[in-house]
Amino acid sequence: MSVVVVGAGLAGIACAAELVAAGVAVRVLDRADHVGGRMATRTVDGRAVDTGAAYFTVRDPEFAEIVARWRTAGLARPWTPELAVLSGDGPGRSPGPMRWSAPQGLRSLVEHLAVGLSVELNREVCRVGPGPTVDGESTDTVVLAMPDPQAVRLLHPSLRAYEAAAGRSWRPVVAVAAGFETRSWGELPAAFVNDHPVVSMVADDGARRGDAAPVLVAHTTSEVARKYDADPDGAIPEVLDALSQLLDVRDEPVWTRAYRWRYAAPEADRDVPFLLGRDGVALAGDGWGSSRIETAWRSGTLLGRELARRHRAS
Ligand SMILES: Cc1cc2nc3c(=O)[nH]c(=O)nc-3n(C[C@H](O)[C@H](O)[C@H](O)COP(=O)(O)OP(=O)(O)OC[C@H]3O[C@@H](n4cnc5c(N)ncnc54)[C@H](O)[C@@H]3O)c2cc1C
Repeated sequence: MSVVVVGAGLAGIACAAELVAAGVAVRVLDRADHVGGRMATRTVDGRAVDTGAAYFTVRDPEFAEIVARWRTAGLARPWTPELAVLSGDGPGRSPGPMRWSAPQGLRSLVEHLAVGLSVELNREVCRVGPGPTVDGESTDTVVLAMPDPQAVRLLHPSLRAYEAAAGRSWRPVVAVAAGFETRSWGELPAAFVNDHPVVSMVADDGARRGDAAPVLVAHTTSEVARKYDADPDGAIPEVLDALSQLLDVRDEPVWTRAYRWRYAAPEADRDVPFLLGRDGVALAGDGWGSSRIETAWRSGTLLGRELARRHRAS
């Protein structure tokens, strides 16, 4: 059996890791020049900043084993069991499961899982057709591990995966990172911001990274992300205004960056972990469950396991 996995986010890499462990030949293709997808880390001003996912939680015992390996490698650390809530009703707290962070950025976790896999970067796939084929080349199975709207663009309409992914809407986010001279806000691991027209979440990147750097990363509401879709930098002044109101940040930032996520999270959950069509085309990712990092890992892992089982049975 030969498998092509399109997408080197956590779901695609987890799927490929399962397959390789079962002795199946896998190629992973990603259009970016790095793995990680929405577990995105950029270097700004000489320091890693998480510009996609903010943190992760751990519920599944098997995922906990992977996280333990990341922790032993110095790549993951428990960050905070409680986030702040900012709303018109005044400040509150959101207790919950431990939120984990990555001292070198969340992308480092996917890089760790990808060691030993055959990953081709800067490789944009344009067409997945019946056969199945990937840009005209035949393979036994194709896995698309990415948001539904990105998968739909590639898929031939006759494929079962096209039908499963078409018409599913995803919410956009613009992430605005801002670096300051000094830390002028109070104790803040991160905060959910309720009912605000501009910002939905803000995280203290220095607190989550553990280096206390005066860096904030705010996620906009979907409305603001749609408004600035063609010009994400345009969201920066509105976000900075919102931060000065919400956190009483008075200083001007030394630097700012804006990152657009056109497909940050699906509008609706699914209750199955992946799709595997009889036509050899499969879908995986955080759209297959409740959108979060752990879901992406689980989706890719379970699909990889099912493909490995079929490989052994054939
Ligand atoms: C702003 C933001 C905040 C978030 N906050 C959190 C959080 O706090 N906690 C949490 O658990 N989760 C959070 N998430 C969600 C989390 O990032 C995702 O659940 C997870 O990273 C999804 O992984 P994935 O592998 O399914 O998809 P992705 O990471 O999106 O991977 C898809 C990959 O496919 C590639 N690709 C797409 N099209 C093509 C093509 N045509 N050819 C080749 N490659 C292609 C992309 O380059 C990408 O690398 C957040 C996401 C965003 C954007």
